[in-house]
Amino acid sequence: MRIFGTADDSIVDGPGIRFSLFTQGCKHACPSCHNPESQPFEGGDLMTVDELWEHIEANPLLSGVTLTGGEPFEQPEPLTELARRTRAKGLTVWAYSGYTFEQLLADTPSTAAHELLTHCDVLVDGLFVEPLKRFGLKWRGSSNQRIIDIPASLEAQEVVLCSL
Ligand code: SF4
Repeated sequence: MRIFGTADDSIVDGPGIRFSLFTQGCKHACPSCHNPESQPFEGGDLMTVDELWEHIEANPLLSGVTLTGGEPFEQPEPLTELARRTRAKGLTVWAYSGYTFEQLLADTPSTAAHELLTHCDVLVDGLFVEPLKRFGLKWRGSSNQRIIDIPASLEAQEVVLCSL
């Protein structure tokens, strides 16, 4: 998959110490994007799931893995495998997306993206909206973005926010 970068021990992309994976490629083109270099689909570096997994396996202090970007749901197949391995190890998977929970549930941008959603624990959804940027927002850039409990939402068939 195409990778913009990684952070082996992030403390800003969800709770605890996390392996953050910044994917390459995003169609959303939010004004004031925090990672504009991650938008082109032809950029970044190519890495395999096994290469990424080595980083995760090497760190016993991790609480989980965070998929961010770029737009992780544009590369759902390898990320589903990574999420599957991560949860089997007892770690949590957080995902950030410019797509909303409802869009992903309706197979936008793909059925494989919907499948990836079902292998994650928490989704921080929606575009980054500069006028809604607030200081002190925890784990999100603008106040329109929601921190969603995915298993509870899938069971309820409506958005259930995380109680953080
Ligand atoms: S979704 Fe994220 S990476 Fe994509 S344009 Fe918006 S802020 Fe940038």
